Order: sequence, then C-alpha cells, then structure tokens
Amino acid sequence: MQVAKLFVACFKLGIQQIEIYRVNLAYKEPFRIAPGASTESRNIIVKILTDYDVVGWGEASPSERVTGETPETVVKVLGKIAPKLLGKCPLRIEQDVELMDSLVKGNPSAKAAIDIALHDILGKTARKPLFMLMGGYRTEVLTDITLSIKSPKEMARDAVKAVKKGFKALKVKVGVNPTEDLERIKRIREAVGENIELRIDANQGWTPKQAVEVLNKMEKFNIEFAEQPVPAEDLKGLIEVKRNSPIPVMADESVHSPEDALRLIQAEAVDLINIKLMKSGGILKGRKIAAIAEAAGIPCMIGCMGESDIGIAAGTHLAAAVKNIQYADLDSNLLQKDKLVKKGGIKVKNSMRIFPKQNGLGIKVDDKRLSNPIRIFA
Ligand SMILES: [Mg+2]
Repeated sequence: MQVAKLFVACFKLGIQQIEIYRVNLAYKEPFRIAPGASTESRNIIVKILTDYDVVGWGEASPSERVTGETPETVVKVLGKIAPKLLGKCPLRIEQDVELMDSLVKGNPSAKAAIDIALHDILGKTARKPLFMLMGGYRTEVLTDITLSIKSPKEMARDAVKAVKKGFKALKVKVGVNPTEDLERIKRIREAVGENIELRIDANQGWTPKQAVEVLNKMEKFNIEFAEQPVPAEDLKGLIEVKRNSPIPVMADESVHSPEDALRLIQAEAVDLINIKLMKSGGILKGRKIAAIAEAAGIPCMIGCMGESDIGIAAGTHLAAAVKNIQYADLDSNLLQKDKLVKKGGIKVKNSMRIFPKQNGLGIKVDDKRLSNPIRIFA
C-alpha cells in the first residue's frame, strides 16, 4: 500500500469484536508469600478482533489483595467497557484508555487486558515487535526467578536449583517473621555464593521497626533492594524505613498508578518502584510511571502477578522498550504448569527473556485451549 493510502486507512480501522475467556492455570507447586499461598492463577483472557483481520490478545490476572479485583469483577467490568469500544480505532490507545477510565473507576487489571490486546494489535498492524515500536532500548531482558516462602533450608535448596537452571538473580519472598527471614537470606547467600543477585520482597509483612532492624542485619548479605517492607497504606512507615535502611527500598503494593508514583516520590518514600501492568491498568500507564520515576532519578522494575505467557509477553516488551525499567521480575508463567501458548512466546535462557521473531506481543495462543469464550461483544 502507498504511504498516503496507508495513512488514511489508519483512521478507518475499527474494533469489530471482543471475546472474553476464563482460564485457571495451575502452579507447579503452591506459591507462598507473606499474606498467603495460592495453587493457581484465575485469569481472564481478552481477544480483540479488528475489521482488517488483525487480532490482539490481552490478559487480566486479578488480585483481590492488591487491586480488589476477582475474575468475576473483571468479567463484569469488561461487560461495561467492551460494548463501548466496538467501532473505536484500536491504534488510538490513549483515547481508548481515556474512554475506559470514563466508564469505570479503578479495576486496573480488567483495563490492562484491553490495553495489552490493543498494544498487540498496534505491533501487528505496524508489522513490528512491540518493544521495537515502543523505543527498543534493549533486545533482551534479565529476569529474576522468585523463591516462594518455605523453611530457610528448603529455600536455600530451591535457590541452588534455580541457579543451576541459569538464573542470575533471585527474588526471595520474606515478611513472615524477621528472625526466620534473616536466616532465609543467610542460608541462601551461603548456598549460592556472591555472584548471584539477591533481592527480597516482604509483601507488607513487617512493621516499620521490624523492617529497619532486619534490613540493617541483612546488609552484609549484599541485598540489591527490599520490596514493600511495610503495609501499602503506611506512607509514614515507608518513609521511616527508606531513611533508615542501608538497602534500597522498592514500593510495590503502595504504587498502582502514575498518580501514586508521583505522590510517593514527592514524599521521598522510595528508592525504586515496581511497575505491574495489573496495577497500572496496562502498558500505556506503566510507561507513564516509568517516565515520572525517571525524572526523579528513581529506577523501576517490571513485576507480575499471576500472568500467563500473554501478560508476561506484554511486561517483557515494556521492559525492553523503556530505559528506566532497569529490573525485571517476569516469572509467573515459569511457575505455572498450564500453558496457553502453543509455540513462540518469550523464552528464558540463562536468566534472559528472549523475544521470538514475531510482530506485536509475539505469541501464538493455543486455539484449542481458548476456543470457548464466556462472552462475545460484536
Ligand atoms: Mg512485590
């Protein structure tokens, strides 16, 4: 197509149909963090069809604990949003997100499912891998793998297994009991040696006082950063921990939106921010958080909830595209036994996430697994 024709065509493209699927993805083993354990991800998959044969896939992995959403609320919210998106241009993502926000407040993981599918369409329409279209700062992304909470001895054993598989960074879940948590870190550091990056995540499990004490004791084990030491709403506590911790403090549950990021940065409450598409409402707002943080000299990580290969692909593209996303915790699909993607998708080798040579998100979903939508909007 001639460039002029292509330019005009771009304004005529429309969303023709939106399909919603429910999936339960079992974990290889129960995954335990400070607030509790889970055995599966209960996710919602979105397929957006356009009137020019391009199809985009997106995913919501709701967390009641973090965003107050469940698979049921996601379906309900998508039921409000999807009919209004029909006929809208899938490439005008900023407008489409504005429309979603005007229809429904909050509910970021439901909106992320749509946002991700639109970005998949964007890449496929431009015939480029999404990360290249969004800036292409890196071509591979180093991810950690997460160690679920177990006894210190078992976690040290899991750490060695992960290192043998090639992982160069381990995210260690803590936040249960400071004395035991210290023992976990000591055992793991002794087991893996000095050349592996260790980062920890307390998932709001400590009081500010406990956090300051235990982080000072952990300093000698060379910890990269400590995620969400205190409850999300305890801003004062977070500030206190940041001031008194020798280990940099990262906000996760405390920062959902670009507005949250700005508020915490202005309060000097954080050294780092963990962006998750399920909290931010998708890629568009994830990029905004990264930009706000960059202006303040705050590096970001991209994390995940319980996304399958679809949501993880979206996070990896964003991480590769954006300079200020300097860390990645993109491992939920590696912990899952069930797969939604037949081939392609983002691989992992020696801790690096590697893109397939495909456009958009670069995933080919398993048509058999995703053949029965629970809702269709057309
Ligand atoms: Mg976290």
